[in-house]
Amino acid sequence: MCFSECNIIEVIGSALTLLSRELTEADITIVQQLDPDIQPIIGDHAQLRQVLINLFSNARDAMSAGGTLTVRAYPSTLRGDPAVTVEVADTGGGIPDDVLRNIFNPFFTTKSGGTGLGLPISHRIMEHHRGTLSVVNNAQGATFTLQLPQARQRF
Ligand code: ADP
Ligand code: MG
Repeated sequence: MCFSECNIIEVIGSALTLLSRELTEADITIVQQLDPDIQPIIGDHAQLRQVLINLFSNARDAMSAGGTLTVRAYPSTLRGDPAVTVEVADTGGGIPDDVLRNIFNPFFTTKSGGTGLGLPISHRIMEHHRGTLSVVNNAQGATFTLQLPQARQRF
């Protein structure tokens, strides 16, 4: 991995650009709520983009009949230090408890032809960034939350 200062809003933008055709063809509306004041993080742009691609493609799979993909980014704190939170929420109906329990296990998939590797790899990438990846159900679907420590300010 190659760590450098990254703007997470740019990473989100490049992942959305790569998947824009698939999302549009599935009748998915994209809503972005990105706080322009969020600070840079230290990370590997390509690996973080891969995490977002994994989350966006799972959201697309969950919303085969269309829906809304909401991406939020805002400042937060992680272990008492400044951090950036990114939320990816879909309206795909959510995740049953037995799936939620196994969702980060390698090769666990409910899809015919699924690899079951997207989320465990994403979880590992977030650990390498000293960040977190978690999931909850919302009223209409699933919400995945990433947290990354903010880059230390230089004076
Ligand atoms: P794959 O996409 O190859 O199945 P993942 O590791 O990306 O592997 O996801 C594992 C499983 O988690 C999926 O098969 C699916 O059952 C569930 N899942 C992941 N994201 C969502 C989502 N946004 N909505 C509903 N279920 C999901
Ligand atoms: Mg997947």
